[in-house]
Amino acid sequence: MNKALISLTFDDGLRSQFESAVPVLDRYGFPATFFLVANTDPIFTDGWAEENGFEWHKIDWTKEDIRLLRGMIARGHEVGAHTITHKRERIAANPIFEAAESKRLIEEWLESEIPSFCYPFYDTIHVLKEPTIKAGFRQARAGRQNSYYAPGDSLDRFAIDCRQILQTGEDVNAWIRPGCWHVVTFHGIGGDQDGWVPITEAEFGRQMAELAGLRDSGAVEVVTFADGASRSQQIAA
Ligand SMILES: [Zn+2]
Repeated sequence: MNKALISLTFDDGLRSQFESAVPVLDRYGFPATFFLVANTDPIFTDGWAEENGFEWHKIDWTKEDIRLLRGMIARGHEVGAHTITHKRERIAANPIFEAAESKRLIEEWLESEIPSFCYPFYDTIHVLKEPTIKAGFRQARAGRQNSYYAPGDSLDRFAIDCRQILQTGEDVNAWIRPGCWHVVTFHGIGGDQDGWVPITEAEFGRQMAELAGLRDSGAVEVVTFADGASRSQQIAA
């Protein structure tokens, strides 16, 4: 089986992802993974946004949000956890709470098991890895070393790498290596008001259309992050 596996991941629960990316994903039948912050603040507070005068709107776990997310899960998407506060100092001060409580809350809200976690800022893996394992997650994403997991590789399920999408010039063909799993990460979809390192809706549409072409030609299968981790481990084993 030489097909590549691709997992599409979306960080921070940004509204722009649900408004602009999910309809495109659904049109192509691509299941994706959304790492959500488990607090009810409607604004994603981040140093860059605040310093530059932007308010990034995020999922704030209203009844409508919960209905939306449950529907997405029913269609094959995955929801993962991305801490409670997404704040570096708070994570360092209480990593056990940030990992375990985000899992517990999201599972309660969505009445669904949440097996995947994502380390904020990529590098908080250093404080969150052990708490994430202890909290009962089955895999976690760090990133952006652009790793490809090939058959026979040993896979640390709690240090899974990703490719952070570039703002221009992204080569979708380069995501694909036969037989390998590759995880791709998006933040804002739209402009600077929509989230960190945004790509435009048109650029997102182009990337997904190219990926659909590769899927239709049999070169790649798009799977959730949890499915990719399980299947890569089977390949590796
Ligand atoms: Zn994040």
